[in-house]
Amino acid sequence: MADFYQTLGVSRQASADDIKRAYRKLAMEHHPDRNASPDAEARFREVTQAYEVLRDPEKRDLYDRYGEAGIRRGAGTGFGMGGFGFADAFDVFMREFGGGSPFEEIFSTRRRSGPRRGRDAKVRVRLTLGEAASGVKRTLRARLLDGCERCSGSGAEPGTSPVACETCGGRGEVRSVQSSLLGQFVSVHPCPRCGGEGRRIETPCAECRGQGRLQKEKRITIDVPPGVSSDDFLRLSGRGNAGPKGGPQGDLLVALEVEEDPRFERHGDDLVHNLAVTFSQAALGDQLTVPTIDGTAELEIPAGIQSGQALRLRGRGMPKLRAQGRGDQIVRVLVWTPARLSSEQRETMERLAELEDAAPEPDTKQPGFWERVKQAFSA
Ligand SMILES: [Zn+2]
Ligand SMILES: [Zn+2]
Repeated sequence: MADFYQTLGVSRQASADDIKRAYRKLAMEHHPDRNASPDAEARFREVTQAYEVLRDPEKRDLYDRYGEAGIRRGAGTGFGMGGFGFADAFDVFMREFGGGSPFEEIFSTRRRSGPRRGRDAKVRVRLTLGEAASGVKRTLRARLLDGCERCSGSGAEPGTSPVACETCGGRGEVRSVQSSLLGQFVSVHPCPRCGGEGRRIETPCAECRGQGRLQKEKRITIDVPPGVSSDDFLRLSGRGNAGPKGGPQGDLLVALEVEEDPRFERHGDDLVHNLAVTFSQAALGDQLTVPTIDGTAELEIPAGIQSGQALRLRGRGMPKLRAQGRGDQIVRVLVWTPARLSSEQRETMERLAELEDAAPEPDTKQPGFWERVKQAFSA
């Protein structure tokens, strides 16, 4: 993980204002709405996470002294197990650039005149790992701005209609020409009278007060495709808030939160499952049933397997998001040592100890043996 100061491109002595300025600039640059490059979203998350730490004097102090470990230890910092996902980054972003800022205009309208597009709306969907694997349909309720039925979204009282703005002649923009030594400059501004819409409402609709839209509780059905993770979000285009005065709907952003499953560690599309076996199973081999994300699988434990050795169930991991195929399930075999022995077991073990004629010989030629053992201990 990169240094947070480097991520924001500021010095360690940077003031709170410097940090805020640097974040705003980078967030604008990397917001996935504006930047189509495939790593924009990851960059956006990174800069937002760095900003969340450095903008808070207490967290910044912890970070300066102990690095990222200090942040993880601090209570309530939001840097726990789940990590810093797109949803978190988006929340920060909305807080920083919230309603009515010029920034919002950049996103919500690309046209200079005519009805503006509505704001994007955001919902969160929590899924189990199993649901993330199978894909799921969810219906949820959200308060969204929806077109007013009384005026069909026009904002004008039924029976009346908007009139063209006299100031800009319906164009929504006004030009001013300035002469200077270097020549003439023409600058174009949104019309101040109609706010760039080109039309004016003389008799506003009584229901929506001329806005053409109203807050409503809506039921939204969301299809989550198989293979998502907490880093993903879905964009349902045209299903967010209605724009003012009949403007097109913004998008609906669905932030996904995939819960952890105690049976599996997820590594991309692969799932790691820890399987405890007895010493005799490891020595003699066995046929076992192990859980998979969508059921169970039969697994052949070869005789003489070492603790920490991994077996692979091909194609039994997570489905690849919007692609063919699935990852693997990796079963990490851990030899379990009984803490108590019955007297009969003890006698048998003692007999076995007498029969053992060699010290353990780890296969050190095989790379990664000790890594696997370490992994097994830390699991
Ligand atoms: Zn209305
Ligand atoms: Zn106008």
